Amino acid sequence: MKKTKGFLLMLLILAGLGTFLWKQWNQAFEWSTGVIYQADFAMRPMTTQAGIPVLLYHHILEDRENKKFRYNEEVITPEQFQQEMGVLHNEGFTTVTLRQLEGYLDKKITLPAKSVAITFDDGYLSNYKYAYPILKRYHDHATIFAITEDVRQKPELFNPDKLNYISWPEISRYHDVFDVEAHAHHFHRVSGLGTSYLLSKPPEAVKKDLAVCKSLTHAAYFAYPYGQYNDTTIKIVKDLGFHMAFTINAGNVYPGANKFALNRNCIFPYTTLDEFKNIIRGQ
Ligand SMILES: [Zn+2]
Repeated sequence: MKKTKGFLLMLLILAGLGTFLWKQWNQAFEWSTGVIYQADFAMRPMTTQAGIPVLLYHHILEDRENKKFRYNEEVITPEQFQQEMGVLHNEGFTTVTLRQLEGYLDKKITLPAKSVAITFDDGYLSNYKYAYPILKRYHDHATIFAITEDVRQKPELFNPDKLNYISWPEISRYHDVFDVEAHAHHFHRVSGLGTSYLLSKPPEAVKKDLAVCKSLTHAAYFAYPYGQYNDTTIKIVKDLGFHMAFTINAGNVYPGANKFALNRNCIFPYTTLDEFKNIIRGQ
């Protein structure tokens, strides 16, 4: 009897520890709401669609150094990124800034038929380490939507077992390729059943948090953490003076689209090169 009790206790402790570690692991990244990603990805229209694709990346790690984030669906290898940027280059795509994209959406400027915008969420140091040299080689532009609370005061040493973030001094150093825009300050978090703080916290608190992020980055553009938003968040983002806001709903952006609920196409480690080509061709 005593043995059984001991065994049950051990089982309970292990289950508890497992749940805790799983939560921690998921919390670190955006895909704690992986369900939303999956649903959105599945909903991607398969018909040809006018407009410009906005790509969404997160973290990049070499396969050999990726031990801790091995099964995260938003960590790609530098090789995959190189291949995808190579496709853009070979097919004659122009990477546009978000400012140019805004001009296009406002019908103030025209952009080349083969245009694409590249974005990275959260502000991982790997964006500078791995994506920057590739983008620089192709004279590409990209945008990082930073969680300002995580932006470091000083550059960090890169450690693939940790989540390293970009630092304020590096933002100006890498500015020739990367613009930095807003993704929340402290509120890039989820409560309860994976609901973004932007939806679960009082609107005044949300506004305050996003205002801090905006003033630190001088941002004009915003990306909803976890892609979650509603009418109240849209109003807050508009009231704060942002010009555009991005979701993680798949599809292109085009003049006439809601500038505060703009589509982006998530690129995953399992996105094949053919799927990538379909995304950039709007198919
Ligand atoms: Zn994020």
